Amino acid sequence: MDVNKAFEIVQPFLKPERFEHTKRVVETAVKLSQKYGGDQNKVELAAAFHDIAKNRPADLLKRWILREPLLPRDLLEFHHELWHGPVGALMVRQDYGIEDPDILNAIRYHTTGRPAMTKLEKIVFIADYIEPGRKFPGIEEAREITEKDLDLGCHVALKNTIQFLMKQRQPIYPATFYAYNDLTQKLK
Ligand code: GDP
Ligand code: FE
Ligand code: FE
Ligand code: FE
Repeated sequence: MDVNKAFEIVQPFLKPERFEHTKRVVETAVKLSQKYGGDQNKVELAAAFHDIAKNRPADLLKRWILREPLLPRDLLEFHHELWHGPVGALMVRQDYGIEDPDILNAIRYHTTGRPAMTKLEKIVFIADYIEPGRKFPGIEEAREITEKDLDLGCHVALKNTIQFLMKQRQPIYPATFYAYNDLTQKLK
């Protein structure tokens, strides 16, 4: 599948501003893959589809999770914001025939991260965080670090997200901690 076909598929699922975000994530991810390597078509497809389930109603996402025995049940005990990645990966596999596990995992883990992320998973994870439309404290530092080192960029994004959630007294999904610890050890 080419990226324009993927855009054609996702656009009707997304609010206009979410579609604009998606296009910026694709551009950012492609630039990162030119620097760090990776199959450009896979990067484009994973980035184009990453938020396909973002604007679906929470109860629909919940039903997908309950129906899919391979997804962890504990997702349902955490914020519904964490559901659109795993469900989006199921949707693109079932409805659009995307079978590549690396693409599916990049979509699935784009919000939480996970330990031992592949290069493609890291590129989509960090492109989503630093795309030019994002504005929050620490974003410039995250952009600069990502230009120098992909692992360090993901590490700072995970650290900022964990700190942000903790300040708001929000729960943190275990995979986010595991991703942070994994990169902390690799970067020693
Ligand atoms: P978006 O879909 O493009 O808006 O970006 P994401 O898929 O990365 O959505 C992330 C949102 O989930 C952020 O606002 C996070 O603060 C929030 N979030 C809530 N709980 C968690 C968690 O346990 N781990 C992570 N990584 N993010 C979380
Ligand atoms: Fe997302
Ligand atoms: Fe993200
Ligand atoms: Fe996104």
